[in-house]
Amino acid sequence: MPFTLSRGGNNIPAEVQRWQYFLLRRGVSQVGRIDADFGAKTEEATRIFQLQQQLAPNGKVNAATLEAARQQGYTVLADGYYAERAGAGWPARPDGLGSPGSDWRNTRFSCFRFVQKQNAYRDRPERIVIRGSCDGRIADWTTANIIDFPSSAFSHADGYRGYFRIHRNAKEALEELLHQWRSLDLLHLVISFAGAFDPRYIYGENPGNGAQPERRSAETGKLSNHAFGSAFDINTTWNWISEVPAFCGRKGSVRELVASANAAGFYWGGHFGGNRIDGMHFELAR
Ligand SMILES: [Zn+2]
Repeated sequence: MPFTLSRGGNNIPAEVQRWQYFLLRRGVSQVGRIDADFGAKTEEATRIFQLQQQLAPNGKVNAATLEAARQQGYTVLADGYYAERAGAGWPARPDGLGSPGSDWRNTRFSCFRFVQKQNAYRDRPERIVIRGSCDGRIADWTTANIIDFPSSAFSHADGYRGYFRIHRNAKEALEELLHQWRSLDLLHLVISFAGAFDPRYIYGENPGNGAQPERRSAETGKLSNHAFGSAFDINTTWNWISEVPAFCGRKGSVRELVASANAAGFYWGGHFGGNRIDGMHFELAR
C-alpha cells in the first residue's frame, strides 16, 4: 500500500507536506500553506485536483489519485520508506566531513575585525558588529563579501523572502545544494526559513555584557558560521537547539535533506555533539 492520505486519516505528516507542496506547485493555491496537516483546505484542494484529472472528487489521496499525480512527477515512495529511516540515529554522521574549523573559514571567507556594543544595545547577547577586513584593505567587510543570492527554491517556505544573504564564496555550493534538493524532490521538507548571514557568536558563547574591544575573527573559534555567511537555518520550530531533531516522517523533519547536503559539502547541526545539537542548521564545510 502506498502512503494514502485523507482528512482525519492516519497520515504521515511528511507525506502531507509532499502532497501540499505538489498542489501548490500545480497552482492549486486553495491548499494554503504547507503545514503537514490534512485539513479542510487540503481536502478542498485535493477535490480540485481530482476534478482536473476526471477522478471522483472525494478529497482523499487514494491509489487512483496518487497514480494520476505520479504521472505528473509526484514521488510515490515504497512502503517501508519511513520505517527504514526511524529513530535518532538516522541519518548517520558522514565520513570525511565535519564542522569546519576556524582556520578553514577564515581562509575561505577571509578574516574580519569586529566589536560588541554593551549588551543593552544589542538585539541579542551574541550580536557583533563587523568592521573591516583584518588585512586593512577593506573598510567594510560585510558590503564587500555578503550578497543577496536570489532563488525560488524556498518560495513556499514561511519566512523566506526570495533570497539567501550569504558570503559570495558560498554561492556556488549553495546553488549546488538547492539543485540537488530540487532534483531529488525534497523541497517539500523545507517549510520555514530563518536566515543565513547573521553577525554573532555561537548561541550562548557571548564573552561578556560590557562593550567588547575590537577582535579579529581568526582569534576566536566561538563565532557562529552565520557570521561568515556560510550557514542557514530551516524548520526551527521542530528542530530547536539542544533538542532531538524531528524524526523522519514527522512534521518539519530535515533528516531526509542531510545526505545530499553532505554530498554538496554542507554539515548538519543535528550531527553536532552533545548539547550543541542544532537540527535547524546547515553550514558549508568544504
Ligand atoms: Zn544556524
